Amino acid sequence: MKTKPAAMLSWIELSASALEQNIRSLSKLVKGRPIAASVKSNAYGHGISQVATLLLPLREVWYLSVHSVEEARQCRFAGWNRAIMLLGPAAPSEVDAIIEYDLEPTIFDIETLDALGKLSKKHKRAIKTHLKLETGTNRQGITAKEIPAFVKLYKKYASLGGIYGASTHFANIEDTTNHAYAEHQLDQFKTLVNQLKKNGCSPKLLHTASSAAAILFEKTRFDLVRPGISVYGHWPSKETYLSHKLMGGNNNLFTPLLTWKTRITQLKNVPAGEFVSYGCTYRTTTKTKLAVLPIGYYDGYSRALSNRGHVLVHGHRAPVRGRVCMNLMMVDVTHIPNVKLHDEVVVIGRQKDEVVSAEMVGDWAGTINYEVLGRLNSAIPRVIVK
Ligand SMILES: *Cc1c(COP(=O)(O)O)cnc(C)c1O
Repeated sequence: MKTKPAAMLSWIELSASALEQNIRSLSKLVKGRPIAASVKSNAYGHGISQVATLLLPLREVWYLSVHSVEEARQCRFAGWNRAIMLLGPAAPSEVDAIIEYDLEPTIFDIETLDALGKLSKKHKRAIKTHLKLETGTNRQGITAKEIPAFVKLYKKYASLGGIYGASTHFANIEDTTNHAYAEHQLDQFKTLVNQLKKNGCSPKLLHTASSAAAILFEKTRFDLVRPGISVYGHWPSKETYLSHKLMGGNNNLFTPLLTWKTRITQLKNVPAGEFVSYGCTYRTTTKTKLAVLPIGYYDGYSRALSNRGHVLVHGHRAPVRGRVCMNLMMVDVTHIPNVKLHDEVVVIGRQKDEVVSAEMVGDWAGTINYEVLGRLNSAIPRVIVK
């Protein structure tokens, strides 16, 4: 789809060169290990088909990892012809798609393993499955006690071709500078993998590392890393950034690729003492120039940013006045010279020398960069730049 940005009222620009730089940085950091780039949640809000297309020429990326079969379908539709790892569950009605789209599913319960065993038998085709091991996140993994039953079923369904991958996911690696729990999980992982081997199942591909783990812990990188947020040029957290810095690392690794832009669709001069937006939560204290923007919480600009957020107009911050509405919001441009109708506004990203980052928006809204990005409405047009 080729849509001219100038014709739009709200759009997201994706920098192809920033994405390439982030992948190169990650690859160098993990010493050339293959990358499974996480494109779940519409590629962290960036646009799954656009990101899949941009990642295709980058050979460091062996896998895309997705949450759902529908996301996998979108990757295939966009032309992704390398491996896809399915991290989340497939509905019973969707299991055939695992063959159709050639997916590598995660196994976290015996029912799924049984269904996939039957599927591989029916199609006389091996399926590369990734067994998720429980190391302390208590989300998807299987425990030491359950291992013998899984191994037995793998052996029953010889057509599956054994256990291809074994994985786990860390619970407490982003939000802290104390990594004792991650170390404990890593020990657990090794113990469980050894137990699989003792039972006669040797996974070929071990992988545990999300962005924070891959960045901070060499020992978690194994045969493949599974970064998400860092692919898009964002640090997983302040703590990860700080820990990396304290380890003497280079902190100029990543560049955000997303800029969310909109345009001023109305300008109005409001006298002092007037209320702005629903709930009358803001009252002007002086003669005020308001710009009305055609975006709201439907688009992913959280209502929690009411009277808290800032956008950029002509490289200056313009504060949000009153409540963010469903499709509209008002910002104060009184202090910014020469503001005109249809001027470009940056909601997330850089404009001239000023930046409003996804991290800042997250702080203002009481959440994290992951949620700010992941909630960007998929209906906003995505435009690839340089
Ligand atoms: C989302 C996800 C990742 C990527 O995590 P980031 O913190 O975004 O790097 C890795 N592994 C699993 C299992 C995930 O669900």
